[in-house]
Amino acid sequence: MAYPYKHPSETLVLAKYFGDPEARTLAGWEARGGYRALRKALGSQRKEIIDEVKASGLRGRGGAGFPTGVKWSFMPMASGKQHYLLCNADESEPGTFKDRELMRWTPHALIEGCLIGAYAIQASHAYIYIRGEFFEPAQILARAIEEATAGGYLGKDLFGSGFDFEIILHRGSGAYICGEETSLMNSFEGLRATPRLKPPFPAQAGVYGLPTTINNVETLCAVPHILNNGAEWYRQWGTEKSPGTKIFCVSGHVQKPGNYEVPLGFNFREFIYDICGGPLPGRTIKAVIPGGSSVPILRGDELDIGMDYEAMAAAGTMLGCGSVIVMDDTTDIVKQVRRMVDFYAHESCGQCTPCREGTAWGAKILRRIEGGWGTEADLETLLEISDNMAGKTICVLSDACAAPITSSIEKFREDYLALIRRGESLARARTA
Ligand code: SF4
Repeated sequence: MAYPYKHPSETLVLAKYFGDPEARTLAGWEARGGYRALRKALGSQRKEIIDEVKASGLRGRGGAGFPTGVKWSFMPMASGKQHYLLCNADESEPGTFKDRELMRWTPHALIEGCLIGAYAIQASHAYIYIRGEFFEPAQILARAIEEATAGGYLGKDLFGSGFDFEIILHRGSGAYICGEETSLMNSFEGLRATPRLKPPFPAQAGVYGLPTTINNVETLCAVPHILNNGAEWYRQWGTEKSPGTKIFCVSGHVQKPGNYEVPLGFNFREFIYDICGGPLPGRTIKAVIPGGSSVPILRGDELDIGMDYEAMAAAGTMLGCGSVIVMDDTTDIVKQVRRMVDFYAHESCGQCTPCREGTAWGAKILRRIEGGWGTEADLETLLEISDNMAGKTICVLSDACAAPITSSIEKFREDYLALIRRGESLARARTA
């Protein structure tokens, strides 16, 4: 089956074999150059691998964008303790569906990335924590792990290197907060999925209290390409601080939603209007969320920016995990924000008062405004609540909920005021 929506302006590195069923098999992956990077890694010093990944500038694709090689270098190599690699395949951010596709089409790329990453950080086990609802990707990945084991890529003394390695696929039971690395570890250990206070950071005390590195699926899938081709090759794309390519997940009101891989720094307007086909016929773009529901909203006239971490930050938003949600002029922004806040209120783990109370109050006030019972003072209350939610809690779920509230009031205040005025005039008519 041809993978839908490939566009000639894409730069296909990770998504090159999407839609190619042969690439899912071990033989097919080997025929496409698979596992060459692993053999190269096993013949290298661990520090050389970490330095190459550092030089490539690869940044974590799960949302935070932390440099991968630097993260690996935090592992206490001389501690003599057991180390773990934990792959975050939870992909819980609304609007995100790239890791699912990477696992569906190129499971061996993830296995090879895990092998190289684990070898570099001296881990003999990797756990892939996959979202419970990802039934098909989990089946495909399980089959690929079996094949890799039978093919000698997993097990004892790989290729005579003395490196023993095992991958365990762990299916989660589904909660947004499981995508946060410390609650993912708790969930993995069979505990309630609540985020842990940091420090200690996972590199000091992670899974079972032992040094752990947590990497996203897309991040690990990029590693074999970097090892095969070198850091400079990877740096031919992107910007100085955001090198390489990235898969963006596009949903909402565009003609061609889907996954698209482009170099970081690609022009956002060109991406939406050319690659994604632009708005539906007769419509205009009103708002865009560039990096998943937890990042500040942009207006439709703010798209002349680069799709990289720095340009998005300069525009007052974030690249996040690259989930682009497009809303056209038919969209009721207040309703959409209320739905997002409802989601975060439902998913809050409840440990921190600003999050537990703030998400619920935010949802309640937004519902009141949406129903025509709001006042202008409610907007100030929402901003005050959001201010108390940002940067004051154990994890960033609270910030994630505050971002759409504050950015929508800042950029679409008229939408809120129109609902408030309509409600007030209806109330006057009722009492007249
Ligand atoms: Fe839980 Fe929210 Fe606190 Fe995160 S911010 S730990 S989700 S209560």
